[in-house]
Amino acid sequence: MEVLQKIKKRVYRFGDKETDGNSTMKNLLGGKGANLAEMSAIGIPVPPGFTITTDVCTEYNLLGQDAVVEMIKEEVEKAIVNIEDIMGTTYGDKDNPLLISVRSGARVSMPGMMDTVLNLGLNEEVVKGLVKKTKNERFAWDSYRRFIQMYGGVVLGMKPHSKEDIDPFEEIMEALKHKRNIDLDTEFTVQDLQDLVYDFKEAVKKRTGHDFPTDPWEQLWGAVMAVFNSWNGKRAVYYRNMHGYPSDWGTAVNVQAMVYGNMGMKSGTGVCFTRDAGTGENVFNGEYLINAQGEDVVAGVRTPQQITKLGSQRWAELANVDEDERTEEYPSLEELMPSIFTELNEYQDKLEKHYQDMQDMEFTMQDGKLWILQTRNGKRTGAAMVKIAIELLKEGMITDKEALLRIEPNKLDELLHPIFDPDALKKANVIAQGLPASPGAATGQIVFFADEATKYKNTILTRIETSPEDLEGMNLAKGILTARGGMTSHAAVVARGMGKCCVSGAGSLLINYKNRTLIVDGKEYHEGDWISLNGSTGNIIEGKVATIKPELSGEFGEIMDLSDKFATMKVRTNADTPKDAKIARSFGAQGIGLTRTEHMFFEVDRIKAMREMILAETVNGRKQALESLLPMQRTDFEGIFEAMEGLPVTIRLLDPPLHEFVPHQLATQKDLADEMHISLQAIKNKVADLEEFNPMLGHRGCRLGITYPEITEMQSRAIIEAALNLKEKGIEAKPEIMVPLIGTLAEFVAQEEIIRSTINKVFEERNDTIEYLVGTMIEIPRAALTADLIAQRAEFFSFGTNDLTQMAFGYSRDDAGKFLPIYIEKGILKVDPFEVLDQEGVGQLVKMGTEKGRKIKPNLKVGICGEHGGEPSSVEFCYRIGLDYVSCSPYRIPIARIATAQAAIR
Ligand code: PEP
Ligand code: MG
Repeated sequence: MEVLQKIKKRVYRFGDKETDGNSTMKNLLGGKGANLAEMSAIGIPVPPGFTITTDVCTEYNLLGQDAVVEMIKEEVEKAIVNIEDIMGTTYGDKDNPLLISVRSGARVSMPGMMDTVLNLGLNEEVVKGLVKKTKNERFAWDSYRRFIQMYGGVVLGMKPHSKEDIDPFEEIMEALKHKRNIDLDTEFTVQDLQDLVYDFKEAVKKRTGHDFPTDPWEQLWGAVMAVFNSWNGKRAVYYRNMHGYPSDWGTAVNVQAMVYGNMGMKSGTGVCFTRDAGTGENVFNGEYLINAQGEDVVAGVRTPQQITKLGSQRWAELANVDEDERTEEYPSLEELMPSIFTELNEYQDKLEKHYQDMQDMEFTMQDGKLWILQTRNGKRTGAAMVKIAIELLKEGMITDKEALLRIEPNKLDELLHPIFDPDALKKANVIAQGLPASPGAATGQIVFFADEATKYKNTILTRIETSPEDLEGMNLAKGILTARGGMTSHAAVVARGMGKCCVSGAGSLLINYKNRTLIVDGKEYHEGDWISLNGSTGNIIEGKVATIKPELSGEFGEIMDLSDKFATMKVRTNADTPKDAKIARSFGAQGIGLTRTEHMFFEVDRIKAMREMILAETVNGRKQALESLLPMQRTDFEGIFEAMEGLPVTIRLLDPPLHEFVPHQLATQKDLADEMHISLQAIKNKVADLEEFNPMLGHRGCRLGITYPEITEMQSRAIIEAALNLKEKGIEAKPEIMVPLIGTLAEFVAQEEIIRSTINKVFEERNDTIEYLVGTMIEIPRAALTADLIAQRAEFFSFGTNDLTQMAFGYSRDDAGKFLPIYIEKGILKVDPFEVLDQEGVGQLVKMGTEKGRKIKPNLKVGICGEHGGEPSSVEFCYRIGLDYVSCSPYRIPIARIATAQAAIR
């Protein structure tokens, strides 16, 4: 073990001399580290540096700082010498100093979730050397000022005390600006910057009790450990949980030579994308700022300029800037620095071809030399994801299988979200215009703080700018609006990643956090006021705007068609009405896996007959009520069969506890008593009678049909009469009658006999027949355990994994909300088992039940109709264990279709 620990390589170099890693090593080097190594290997100019592996993060969590420093000290020192050789500078040297950055980098990109420190290696002596070397006093002191500020915040914990407070360093800067009567950071003189450095250090001493560290090596180790710590910081943990990333991945640390975009007018920095991350359009785009550092672009404090001329012109139109002002004040990089633009354009092309995907790149120009700081597969909206996959396929860059694997099934959900009704938009009162940072439509009530995003049901998080602390609130809000920041600001990038509607950089908004007001054109809006955002145009609209459902067309349709080429398992839908069945067909459902017949009874005109049936004192009374329900059910079934055009339709007999149908309010009970000509007391008694301690385990499922066979008779009759009626009209119908919640073979047989004898009666009456199946749900553990017995009679199985999960875990479906979130927070469960099938436990029941059933009937048709049928990882599991189909709600069908195709490809 000791020996192994010593010989294990923990530090990987990159740069134009030595490159130890490559892009396949993401797990060890993190995405950023692996990409830096890869880029440097293919001849992209990256500032030299090295990566400390993710393993070291895990070792740090186990063994602590001292042991880890001991382990990697020698390797790190050698790697620093390598950077010094390449850059021709020396770390900590006061005449010719090397300055470095320290950044996090997990195996997946977690934008802004972890910490970064820039400008390490500066102290009172070195800063003077830097002045001499660069002959730029202002730059040197500004770098030192930024370093103390960042190191202070990240490593020494100098953060605001509360959300209304400002950052302690910002406070000092604001005070100085006020005193000097200036507005912008760029107006500080060298003397001001020196004063700030002094005041910052004083503040650090006062708050932490220690002097700000001057030893460059102490600075380096402090920053490295802070990055490791940030892996377990609140933001990172939330982000990991949201995406289901395990905590033992750890983060790598990238240490790299600093290059500066703030060394004067021939320097600058920017962010760019090889394609449009919002729409997927194949246009190179991005933003830059002259004489600035990377965080200036992302933080959104200054208005960034566009990289391409085309982008700049599009921006100017939205921002209401005329062509003269644009070329004067906000020229594109293409116009301002044509040769750098040409070089950048070559690299973006090379990188996209190399990685065969849309790239999100960061670059810096230092005194006329272009450096690429990083590249990664760009975050994108669902729409962009689909368009880019299809276009890369058409361009021949990827195969059709690869195109399908590029789709994150759950992200398709965004494409199914409502859009603004074009008619309503025509009448809308547009009060301001921002940038169309992330497409979509959002209507909600204004809130100004991320932790108040759930104050109303639908909220629009309205901020001057957002920061990584706001992530949770951004996720919970319906839309995000910022006054500052461009298309690559934090708000824009994060919102696109979440597929959330966002309008950024709406400069005409005046937001006051203290008063909780938003002023636009002199009109004041308050917290709780309704506004709407159009993320595709950047329009900010007063009040609510009606929405409509989107359509499946264009590239979305193409990717769906492609999925059919590979999918072998079928996708059915859970649909209870002809309307849902039609929607499901339009999304490509290949049948109905579950019709919950009880849902038809909740409609106003039916609930009455249903209640009469439940409250009937005698069999005859019940039969009478059922007779009035029969034609209603029959019509519903006809509609559903018709919508499904001859595809199989599984209809489940009545399942829920009856007390769900009876009135609990006095007024409704009175009405019902009048209508039924019985006393109010009789109604009250019956309602009390139906109360159960544990309704989910009580009088429900097949237990209803067994105690009240006339219900099963009525439903079987309605199903078969509907099918025969359609047959007469020349329309094919394939009914599959499903018995719910059985635990023993005898229960099934009892119901099956009633079903078949009723149907035979109908056949005789009509002098006609039709093919049908009688099967069962497997949703009680005992049914899974005895599936071989049940398969002797049942013609198909459908796993009801909602109930199966409830009963396998012993978690009540109705009450689990009280403890599941805490279980997940504490890591006792990784995910909610009602959402994601628990393959280890519940999944074994499904697998075993399928195997046992097929031992008796090798061709037994088996599907799943619990909520898991539309969840990608559960769909993949169903494919692996050989199910014939999954069934899910209509709007999840595209997701399940892609997941099914992906499972077949993988
Ligand atoms: C199930 O239990 O998984 C199921 C589909 O039935 P319901 O949700 O209606 O109980
Ligand atoms: Mg169930």
